[in-house]
Amino acid sequence: MELPFAESWKIKMVEAIRKSTREEREEWIKKAHYNVFQLTSDQVYIDLITDSGTGAMSDQQWAAMMVGDESYAGASSFFNLKAMIKQITGFDYVIPTHQGRAAENVLFSYLVHEGDVIPGNSHFDTTKGHIEGRKAIALDCTIDEAKDTQLELPFKGNVDIKKLEDALIKYADRIPFIIVTITNNTAGGQPVSMQNMKDIRCLADKYNKPVLFDSARFAENAYFIKTREEAYKDKTIKEISREMFDLADGMTMSAKKDGIVNMGGFIATRKEEWYEGAKGYCVQYEGYLTYGGMNGRDMNALAIGLDENTEFDNLETRIRQVAYLAERLDEFGIPYQRPAGGHAIFVDAPKVLTHVPKEEFPAQTLTIELYLEAGIRGCEIGYILADRDPVTHENRFGGIDLLRLAIPRRVYTNNHIDVIAVALKNVFDRRESITRGVKILWEAPIMRHFTVKLERLS
Ligand SMILES: *Cc1c(COP(=O)(O)O)cnc(C)c1O
Repeated sequence: MELPFAESWKIKMVEAIRKSTREEREEWIKKAHYNVFQLTSDQVYIDLITDSGTGAMSDQQWAAMMVGDESYAGASSFFNLKAMIKQITGFDYVIPTHQGRAAENVLFSYLVHEGDVIPGNSHFDTTKGHIEGRKAIALDCTIDEAKDTQLELPFKGNVDIKKLEDALIKYADRIPFIIVTITNNTAGGQPVSMQNMKDIRCLADKYNKPVLFDSARFAENAYFIKTREEAYKDKTIKEISREMFDLADGMTMSAKKDGIVNMGGFIATRKEEWYEGAKGYCVQYEGYLTYGGMNGRDMNALAIGLDENTEFDNLETRIRQVAYLAERLDEFGIPYQRPAGGHAIFVDAPKVLTHVPKEEFPAQTLTIELYLEAGIRGCEIGYILADRDPVTHENRFGGIDLLRLAIPRRVYTNNHIDVIAVALKNVFDRRESITRGVKILWEAPIMRHFTVKLERLS
């Protein structure tokens, strides 16, 4: 008999989590104004609000923390990190920052100017924010198929090459670089194929534009290339990562994702000009060049995290856990964005809560129901997150309305995944009885989801 699959690690340190009663949760979520961001972590049993900065470090990472070099200038920890980044990406120039958006801020302060156009695949919200905040345009050139939640495609995060070329022709001199997000977070953690990256590079060369990778989940992307793109099945994750980065001029990184650290980020590039242009902003916003926004100990832990998470077994454990949750949901007939992505499952809330009108926010309602059912904290990626139209001030109901279940790295076991799946099934089984959603009592003008106060309708 073939041995079953199991995790590529064992557990050395644990953190207690607590179950609560439904009565307690009713009270807590009411006090939190039905906004899960306002819950305290001890009111949560299984926390799926994000996979960012929530991973478990390894014994090797903790050991490296102890020998972190906290020197202001020239710390060995910086050189450890720089050497690992060079080994994985081939990039010579490294600027450490305190997280991914800080890397965007530092690099874009140099590269992005008013009136610029930056084409790419579904820019992440902070990326978009840093572009639009500079009065430039983030132009989404993702393939149209990404919008169809039920379509199974191996590389649903791809850039539409025709759309990209049209943009390169139309905006020509207004384009400082092309951005490719790996994996495509906004499209549901969907990967970009190596072929697509090669095609992007060809176009970039034809129109003489540099390419920047937003690389938060580059290792998960490499795993999907290995398992879904025939030509790469015998290559290692490190070989594939290197081949990906060979197609780019530089990267921004949120190390809180595939770096498996709780805080950190960096810019890396082969372009001396980018480094020279951006480094002053690092000093201004983050810190001196050999620490940026990071502690020595954190740079050490990140160097090890990057090494560990570009190994197949570690990635396989993770991606298979996300896929396992998807399989359980399939078993119960619960609709989610297909195929399962790298870091999260996105439940299609309007398809579950068919009686809750969109004006009463189905995905937020489902988020609350799942919390009440079992103390599981997901996150609405839907109509509340979409904010209001800046001109009409109407709610934007044009997009998708999803409940995101983000899986932290190396944190929960498949027993926890079973609890999540069954809790969602219980909500799903009584979906016909859920006819009312929530009403907004108070909201901020932008990014309202973090602080919105809601009332539950009945
Ligand atoms: C998380 C993320 C960022 C921003 O990084 P932070 O570390 O949260 O500041 C940028 N791009 C992508 C694709 C991300 O997932």
